[in-house]
Amino acid sequence: MDTLTVEQNNQLEQLLKQRYQQLIGEVQAELASTGEQHFADFAEAGGSDEGDESMADALADIAAAKVDRQINEMRDIEAARKRMKQGGYGICIDCGEAIAFERLLAYPTAKRCIRCQQAHEKSHTSEGTPSL
Ligand SMILES: [Zn+2]
Repeated sequence: MDTLTVEQNNQLEQLLKQRYQQLIGEVQAELASTGEQHFADFAEAGGSDEGDESMADALADIAAAKVDRQINEMRDIEAARKRMKQGGYGICIDCGEAIAFERLLAYPTAKRCIRCQQAHEKSHTSEGTPSL
């Protein structure tokens, strides 16, 4: 299987960025609803996301349980974008094969190809994540 073209890579990077911004919005809404405007401002200030600092880590320190799901997904996205920069994005971490573009479109933070993901889920059946 071929690795990603530049166009495909750009498309996936846009998806990751959009999803990241969406998560920041959810975190802001959550924090605003609990009266933690200070943290909502913090998230807003860091929202341009081009730095190396992990906003997910910073938020985890502050807001922990309230925005757990968003923070976990933000971490996945930050890791995916790091792999894009450093190489290795779109390559299965188990077998080293390229991950299908269609799979990445549906699940841009995927670290495994479908075959390895299914094998992984079989051996970790307690995880509640749906298979893609
Ligand atoms: Zn694989």
